[in-house]
Amino acid sequence: MQSTHLSPSTLLYEGKAKQLFLTDDPQVLWVRYKDDATAFNGQKFDRLLGKGVLNNLISAQIFKDLADFGIPSHFIDRVSDIEQLVRRVEIIPLEVVVRNVVAGSLAKRLGWEEGRSLKQPIVEFYYKNDDLGDPLLTENHIDLLDLATTQEIKELREGALQINDFLTKRFSKIDLQLVDFKLEFGRQPDGSLILADEISPDTCRLWDGKTNEKMDKDRFRRNLGGLVEAYQEVWNRLHVGKDA
Ligand code: UDP
Repeated sequence: MQSTHLSPSTLLYEGKAKQLFLTDDPQVLWVRYKDDATAFNGQKFDRLLGKGVLNNLISAQIFKDLADFGIPSHFIDRVSDIEQLVRRVEIIPLEVVVRNVVAGSLAKRLGWEEGRSLKQPIVEFYYKNDDLGDPLLTENHIDLLDLATTQEIKELREGALQINDFLTKRFSKIDLQLVDFKLEFGRQPDGSLILADEISPDTCRLWDGKTNEKMDKDRFRRNLGGLVEAYQEVWNRLHVGKDA
């Protein structure tokens, strides 16, 4: 964490879990993580004290680890317990989901048991559109909607699988199974794509390696309780030996 001469000014956008502020630098945004939790397209809502801090810490740590591994993201620096600076990008309205194990909507779609390992990781694209309920898209749909070119879709798929390789190992070392997760990418001013948004237990399914206990947002979606405690445990394991 470094000091910065920048400070948040106008609120640019407020999402379900974060606020984005402009700064004096037009290329840099100030992100504030909220304690709010939502699910089922905003129908379920709660405020879980401490979630924002933990997601900020976890996401910053993962972006730093990815950068050390050679995978860049929009992340610049964490500036407080609940805030980070990121490069301003134009978010592509696609949720890029990678899955290693059956869970959630894939269990429903295929009629398969949760917990079944996939023979290889798969990548899915969902349209970030609340009015439509974030539908699954084929590559033809993405082309029709003009959301990304064929070359960009290839890049998104390959980038997501590479991130999955890294994250699967990173979490496995701390006895967490990475079941699935969602990524978002943005376009930089030169047109190139870069990883953006957040990577946290709000956007990943993480199961304890020994007990299979859910350590992610499913604790909220499924009314299991103990969400903040689970996120705290993920953070405790993640930053052991790190100077966060
Ligand atoms: N996910 C997310 N935001 C969304 C939808 C899904 O971060 O708006 C994540 C979710 O946490 C999980 C993965 O993407 O790790 C796959 O989610 P799924 O399609 O199974 O949907 P869900 O069952 O979460 O509604």
